[in-house]
Amino acid sequence: MTSQPLFEKVAVIGLGLIGSSLCHVMKREGLASSIAGVARSKETLHTALRIGFIDTEHETARAAVDGADLIVLATPVGANSVLAEQIAPSLKQGAIITDVGSVKVSVIRDVQPHLPDGVHFVPGHPVAGTEYSGPESGFAELFENRYCILTPPDGTDQNAIDKTRKLWRAAGSIVEIMDADHHDRVLAITSHLPHLIAYTIVGTANDLEGQLREKKAGGEIKIRTADVVKYSAGGFRDFTRIAASDPVMWRDIFLNNKDAVLEQLGRFIEDLTAMQRSIRWEEGDALEDTFRRTREIRRGIVEMGQAGSFDPTETEE
Ligand code: NAP
Repeated sequence: MTSQPLFEKVAVIGLGLIGSSLCHVMKREGLASSIAGVARSKETLHTALRIGFIDTEHETARAAVDGADLIVLATPVGANSVLAEQIAPSLKQGAIITDVGSVKVSVIRDVQPHLPDGVHFVPGHPVAGTEYSGPESGFAELFENRYCILTPPDGTDQNAIDKTRKLWRAAGSIVEIMDADHHDRVLAITSHLPHLIAYTIVGTANDLEGQLREKKAGGEIKIRTADVVKYSAGGFRDFTRIAASDPVMWRDIFLNNKDAVLEQLGRFIEDLTAMQRSIRWEEGDALEDTFRRTREIRRGIVEMGQAGSFDPTETEE
């Protein structure tokens, strides 16, 4: 518990998994004298008040940010441009605005032009999450021992960067400063592409199951229809967990990190084709080499304390 709140009034726009988790942190650590919350639906606002991670509910983002020292954008990234335009006239001089979006170049492009002089924008991305969404899914420990990447544009006020860093340190995060473009390229391969693969493979398996069912009904083949899902205890089960992540959030991520994702996808398809060839030509050594190399990579991640577990509440985005 800090003795003096880091901020007087904080406004959090978007009270889902990430917004609510950050509110829980601010409550636990006494980082804000009051937290004003905004969401799209009344239901979310009422739930947030009932749980107690916000102090006041507001119908509009503009009303919520009035007099706030810190504004946190915690909505799907596609909503940022309109929100920034709406809140701009009510932002207090000296206020810090940050966000938690999973892509950073587009967020800077969409938010920065609307901000008046004297308001400091420190974009951020907590690299932590689960496949759950909504105001009841948040918890204060979500960010512990996870990276939080800040991507302040050149010339950002150092005091604003330091205060944002303090916020995330209080959440238990390891804070890194990075160029937004670099962030988007790195996350395209470590997070966005794995989600794309998960969404695709779960869809492919589901289509296959449907086909097997149809064939059985036609009496052509004898196969147990639910096998694809029933025997999902292998790697497929982990894919289904990732593929349960919020559809709107992920739609916005792919549309807003299009170039980096397409670039990494191209590389991935090349490597997948090489694997396909190795299997076809029975190049066991090549397969084994790849699998040994990837096992070492996993070991490195474990040694860095970033492996997580196969706890179903744990994914990263
Ligand atoms: P979420 O659980 O789906 O919550 C989104 C919240 O935003 C909801 O409260 C929603 O309101 C609100 N919202 C949506 N559009 C709005 C608008 N136009 N105006 C006001 N409120 C609006 O999403 P989340 O998982 O917290 O993700 C939020 C952000 O965090 C995204 O940008 C995402 O990229 C980033 N992020 C997510 C993860 C993850 O694993 N989930 C990890 C790191 C970063 P209603 O509840 O009323 O619909």
